[in-house]
Amino acid sequence: MKKSLTFFVPLAVLTATFILLPRIATLPPAHHELALISPYLVAVTGMFLAVHFHRGRPFTALFLIALFHFCYRTFLAGGITGIAQQGFLYTFALLLPPNFALLALMRERGILSVAGRLRFTFLAFQAGAAWLLYRHHFEDLLPLLTRPFVTLAPLDNLPVPQPILAVTLVSLILTAILALRRQAPIESGLLGALAAFAIACARITTPDLPAAFCSAAGLIITLSIIQDSYNMAFRDDLTGLPSRRALNESLHGLGRRYAVAMLDVDHFKRFNDTYGHDVGDQVLKMVAKKMEGVSGGGKAYRYGGEEFTVLFPGKRSADAIPHLEALRKAIEEYRLAIRSDDRPKDQKQGEGKRGSRQGTTEVSVTISIGVAESGDGQGTTAEVLKAADKALYRAKNKGRNQVCT
Ligand code: GH3
Ligand code: MG
Ligand code: MG
Repeated sequence: MKKSLTFFVPLAVLTATFILLPRIATLPPAHHELALISPYLVAVTGMFLAVHFHRGRPFTALFLIALFHFCYRTFLAGGITGIAQQGFLYTFALLLPPNFALLALMRERGILSVAGRLRFTFLAFQAGAAWLLYRHHFEDLLPLLTRPFVTLAPLDNLPVPQPILAVTLVSLILTAILALRRQAPIESGLLGALAAFAIACARITTPDLPAAFCSAAGLIITLSIIQDSYNMAFRDDLTGLPSRRALNESLHGLGRRYAVAMLDVDHFKRFNDTYGHDVGDQVLKMVAKKMEGVSGGGKAYRYGGEEFTVLFPGKRSADAIPHLEALRKAIEEYRLAIRSDDRPKDQKQGEGKRGSRQGTTEVSVTISIGVAESGDGQGTTAEVLKAADKALYRAKNKGRNQVCT
């Protein structure tokens, strides 16, 4: 699945919500009621999926969205008419965005694990503190919460005051930075859902709008769980390349003509022993990055361990070889800088060492490649793959760092 899709899905859901919003008012009463309870339906579906896949962060986000919708329906649907309504709206608008940013920042640690329970304890603590402050100090806090920074007509008309808007904005920016850096579905989902929540708060008095955007928030997070589980199945965690399962899927869809290359890092065991497993992992990531950029329409997969596969649909071996040669060369020439203190104490002089500057060491690796094509005697894709593997052995036997057919 393309990484850009992680941003496309939230954007598409938000756009569709804006387009469909005017239609909700025209629905027959039974359907209209369904539209108003749809945030719960979406949240429960998403929470069920989150439990199934042990995803605590989206589970918490869905819980908070459902809770906000419950409070909206129970206390705020009639408008922000008094201090109680203000209390509810300000509490959610102030606390939910930073909590979403925190969820985006955190690593996934499950739902009922120690970390998961701590997270819910922390939320309960916030709710308790908000309740106490509301009961005893709300009037003292109001001037602080509502003090405007600037005089700007569009901002003055919003039901949420400027200091709370500033917290929302900072949370949105932090979540966006995390989503952009990680390019992962859950972080993008949290960003999209937070945007939907901010829209719901900003237009809380517009009929149907908060319910529609709470549904949108829930849907965005639910879809992000589905995307995330797809990635778990078809993407390799370390390198981000499609996994062997994805390769098997692609092999089914190939036409009659194609070339397959098997790649293997040379003397990688010795490399790991010399520089440590962490540096070995860094090298695998580098190799994967180079492979992702392979020319000639090749698609790269991590076959397993330090072995990779490149598929060239519609190509013969002879067409693929120049592109594989370019890849082999790019990897041979790449120098990976590692900190010298990353290296294990009992260093031996390794295959990959090429030179050093003070404090850092530059390492490099080479790869061997075997290529085979469909059609010449090998009927099934499994047989073509096996032929590529045999060609890889020939490359190893001939001295490594080369492409063989
Ligand atoms: P050759 O040139 O014949 O391929 O030698 P080699 O040492 O690369 O071959 P071998 O298959 O004996 O060793 C592969 C090593 O790759 C074994 C293991 O230590 C290492 N390896 C496999 N998967 C990973 C991984 O995910 N991370 C790291 N750091 N090392 C891995
Ligand atoms: Mg190997
Ligand atoms: Mg190897």
